[in-house]
Amino acid sequence: MRITIDRTACSGHARCAAAAPELFRLDDDGYALPLDTEVPAELEQAAHDGETACPERAVTLR
Ligand code: SF4
Repeated sequence: MRITIDRTACSGHARCAAAAPELFRLDDDGYALPLDTEVPAELEQAAHDGETACPERAVTLR
């Protein structure tokens, strides 16, 4: 599984990082930093939590 973040859709709610701080990082303004990494199996639930938490649908899992 990989996570990508659409920075054009991100509105800086910071909910992804609140839901899964072990995966999502924010810049100084609260916007999710670019992420295109392989998710370890033990963090797949956290990835889903972050995806679900984003109200802008800016987080994609594939
Ligand atoms: S929850 Fe969505 S909109 Fe908010 S910072 Fe994370 S990716 Fe951006």
